[in-house]
Amino acid sequence: MRIDIVTIFPQMVEGVLEHGIVGRAREAGIVHVRVVNLRDYTTDRHRTTDDKPCGGGGGMIMKPEPLFRAVECLRDAENPARVILTDPQGQVFSQAKAQELAQEAHLIFLCGRYEGVDERVRLHLATDELSIGDYVLTGGELPALVMMDAIVRLLPGALGNEQAACQDSFSDGLLEHPQYTLPREFRGWRVPDILLSGHHEQIRKWRRWHRLMRTKERRPDLWQQFQPTPEDLELLQQEEPHYEAEP
Ligand code: SAH
Repeated sequence: MRIDIVTIFPQMVEGVLEHGIVGRAREAGIVHVRVVNLRDYTTDRHRTTDDKPCGGGGGMIMKPEPLFRAVECLRDAENPARVILTDPQGQVFSQAKAQELAQEAHLIFLCGRYEGVDERVRLHLATDELSIGDYVLTGGELPALVMMDAIVRLLPGALGNEQAACQDSFSDGLLEHPQYTLPREFRGWRVPDILLSGHHEQIRKWRRWHRLMRTKERRPDLWQQFQPTPEDLELLQQEEPHYEAEP
């Protein structure tokens, strides 16, 4: 997959790309990320990317020409890219959207600044307008990085353990179960015996029970959408499963 991030602050974006899973996925050639300086697509001496709002008012608006020119240079004619405008007025990004975008060959993120971008970018250049939540940030760089991070970890081979991504919170409409590591006992708080029992079927049930209960308690909005299986309905009638040694 190729991801281009178009910004007036390339250095703000570059550091983030070097670390962790994203850094490794880039080294492994799973994803090619280009950080594109929007000013390279200006034509005037001052490399201007913004101008006053038509009709008056405060603040500055990002000009359309550099953004169109950048996307037209980055886009390759055979494989139409998804052109994602970061925008607090856009559709709210989700795990499902990350999964959808992880199937694409080429994503171009446009990072707004100031009061936002000229409406013609939204109308005639962007294929998607995405928000990371109902709050207003100073720019689209952090939203683009948030979305890129969520997408890259879904690419085949990006996570060491393939199974890990399909158990994550939201991937099947449930939150993840509690996780513990060693030591067995820390300040008197013990890891539940069942997780150390080696009894896979009991562990599976314990985890499923916790995923169901957590989602029901913490996220009634997700719970309403969730379709329990017959086993889930049975588990929901039960108390928290405890380790039972084989007779
Ligand atoms: N005046 C605009 C907000 C501009 S914020 C309005 O009221 O809608 C400046 C830029 O930051 C936006 O163009 C966008 O690229 C980015 N941005 C801010 N908040 C965001 C959010 N919640 N999600 C995605 N992008 C956001």
